[in-house]
Parts: sequence; C-alpha cells; structure tokens
Amino acid sequence: MDFKLTKQQKLTRNIARDFARHELEPFAQEWDEKMEFPREAIAKMRSLGFMGICIPQEYGGCGLDTVCYVLTIEELAKACASTAIIVGVHNSMGAYPIYLLGTDAQKKKYLSGLAAGKKLGAFALTEPNAGSDPVSMETTAEQQGKSYILNGTKTFITNGGTSDIVIVMAYTDRSKRGKGITAFIVEKKFKGFTAGPKENKLGIRASDTCELIFENCPVPATNVLGPFGGGLNAALEALNLGRVGVAAQALGVARRAMEACVTYSRERKQFGRPIADFQAIQWAIADMATEIEAARGLIFKAATLKDQGASFATEGAMAKLYASEVAMRTATKAVQIHGGYGCMKDYAVERCFRDAKVIEIYEGTSEIQRLIIARDVMR
Ligand SMILES: Cc1cc2nc3c(=O)[nH]c(=O)nc-3n(C[C@H](O)[C@H](O)[C@H](O)COP(=O)(O)OP(=O)(O)OC[C@H]3O[C@@H](n4cnc5c(N)ncnc54)[C@H](O)[C@@H]3O)c2cc1C
Repeated sequence: MDFKLTKQQKLTRNIARDFARHELEPFAQEWDEKMEFPREAIAKMRSLGFMGICIPQEYGGCGLDTVCYVLTIEELAKACASTAIIVGVHNSMGAYPIYLLGTDAQKKKYLSGLAAGKKLGAFALTEPNAGSDPVSMETTAEQQGKSYILNGTKTFITNGGTSDIVIVMAYTDRSKRGKGITAFIVEKKFKGFTAGPKENKLGIRASDTCELIFENCPVPATNVLGPFGGGLNAALEALNLGRVGVAAQALGVARRAMEACVTYSRERKQFGRPIADFQAIQWAIADMATEIEAARGLIFKAATLKDQGASFATEGAMAKLYASEVAMRTATKAVQIHGGYGCMKDYAVERCFRDAKVIEIYEGTSEIQRLIIARDVMR
C-alpha cells in the first residue's frame, strides 16, 4: 500500500482543511450548544464539490477516489464532527446507493441533484424496535397498482428533517425475512411522509437526527432501488462505505483532542513547570499519536481496497471499530489532561468527548463491528 498521497489527494485534503478552519471551526461550538444545523456551511460546500465527492462527473459529482473522501471527512470532523456526519451520510448513504444500484432514470432524476448538493440525502434503516438487528423491522411497503404504500416509523435518522431524498428500507414480503426487504427512494414531499422534531443528543448535536413517519405514503414503483427484495444487501453495501467515512470522522475527532492536549500541556503550569514536562503527560500523548496513526492505516487500507474494486467490508468494520474506540480513548484522556478545564464547554475536548461516544454507536455499534469481523475471521 502506498502511503504517499497523490497530488489530487493532497489538494483535496488542503481544500477541506482550509474550509474547515475558516468556515466550521469558529462556529462549531455555538452550533453544538444551540443544536443548530450548519445550513450556510453546507451550502458553501456545494461549490467545493464536497456533496458528491466520489460520484462521477457525468452525474454532477467530483469523481474522486475513496481516499479523497476519507481525507475530506477527517478534516471536516477535526473542526466540526456534526458537519462531517451530515456530509458523510449524504455522500455514502444518500447518493452512493443510487449510484451503485439506481436505474438510469433514477440517476438522472435524483443522483445529479444530490451530487451537486442541491438536494440533501438521508438513509433510513433503524426503527424503534430494530437497531442492530434490522431484520426485525416493522415498516411495510404494500403494492397498490403502480405504487407501494409505506407504513412505519424510522428512528434516529441523520439529516432526517433537513433532507429532500431518503433511502428507506421496508418489508415487501415479511415471510422472506432478510430477503423480503426492499429499498425505496422516497421524496420528502410525498404524501403521508412526516419528520419528527430534532432529537436533543449527547453529541454530534448540530446534525439533525429525527424520527421519520410513513402513514399510507405512496411511493411510485419506479422508485424501487436495486433488486426487489435486495434492500438489506443495499443497506449493507451503503453501510460498508458509510463505516469507512465514520472511521475518518473518528480520526478527525481524535486528532483534534490530541492537538488540544499538545497546546494545553505546554501552556498549563503546575509545580512550577508546564505539565508537558511530566513524563505521564508525554506518554499519554505518545499513545494517542500511535493509535491515531494505526487508525489511519486501517482507514486508508479499507478506502484503497474499495478504490481497487476489492472487498472491503471487514476492513471497513475494523476501521470503524478501532478508530471510534481510539477517538473515545483519546478524548477521555484529553479531558483528563485538561483537568477541571476539560469539563468546561470553553474547551474543545469536552465536545470531542461527547462526539466520540456517539461515533462508537451509529452505523453499527462496536459490538456489531466485532460480530462482522469475527464472522469473517472464523469463517
Ligand atoms: C446520532 C445518531 C444518528 C443515527 N443515524 C442513523 C441514520 O442516519 N440511519 C439509520 O438507519 N440509523 C441511524 N442511527 C441508528 C444507529 O445506527 C443505531 O442506534 C445503532 O445501530 C444501534 O441500534 P440501537 O440503538 O437500536 O441499539 P440496540 O441494537 O438495541 O443495541 C443495544 C446494545 O446491545 C448491543 N447488541 C445488540 N445486538 C448485539 C449482539 N448480537 N451481540 C452483542 N451486542 C449486541 C449493542 O451493541 C448495544 O450496545 C443513528 C443513531 C444515532 C445515535
């Protein structure tokens, strides 16, 4: 594996870094406190191509590789983890499934708008009684003439209230269990589709997470995405890429927490010297740096495998598992190094700590990533 970034990858990272520093960093704390969706920042990202990073140019995207995608998400997350997940879900779970499985007509109708950032995408799998086990979902889609009538409730949906287009998984034949789930492209304006209020969360607070309710919502049969009964596979494909993006998000959070420790430990004096002089602090930072580099290696491996057209599901699960736990360990230690100040909202590590916990949970908890990895290793 070549660890040297190409010219294009360096350029992409630098653009994302510059944007994050000027357009996200100064406002991220306020967005977090007010649970404010970063609407203007998202609009600005359209012109930079962040809303269709890997989607080919013929559909309005940038046509960049997955390494460019993870570099972008990492830089955004370092400044604002909420913005990173808004962009990540839109790219990997909203637009990508349509690129992967959509018909020409679906790509023309939906993908171009998503890739250009004119429309925002979301992905709805989780339900109140079906999280880690999506097969226990209750949402149904019943055929009536040329439409399917959706009924059910999806929960904790990122971009749920703000999105224009949602990929929704529903049972078309419950007796077939996992093979009876079908994916649908659902427009926010469809009758019988409503979004609940924004959830008040521990972390990633600026992102919009909410319930989606379908009450006799008619979806044209032409909006079935991918093979009929192939919805679970479609979801798993989307989650494979989504997880690599979430791992990159975790990496950005971990880097932010570590860099805050370097600055703070040089400034903070106790016992007449900067706390950076104490070996306990230096070793903690050395461990953070080592784990961050290990996480980066896993993320780049998964992204590179995807770019080579190879299977990357296990590597993606490893990257998500490890990077999210590194973010949590780093942020926990970072709060400790900041002492009492680390518990105050004036310090970035407090937000990193809350954001990292959420990252360990969504797009499959750590336990579910271990299950995926073990299944592959022990096959
Ligand atoms: C902020 C946020 C945003 C989200 N965005 C989206 C989104 O955009 N779209 C979407 O569809 N979903 C989304 N989710 C849902 C998320 O993916 C689920 O919360 C997650 O998959 C876990 O499901 P659950 O919350 O129902 O927990 P449960 O599945 O009930 O799990 C509870 C606990 O049991 C453990 N557990 C469950 N099964 C096993 C097992 N077999 N072995 C060992 N342990 C197990 C879990 O790891 C966890 O610790 C989001 C969640 C959050 C918090």
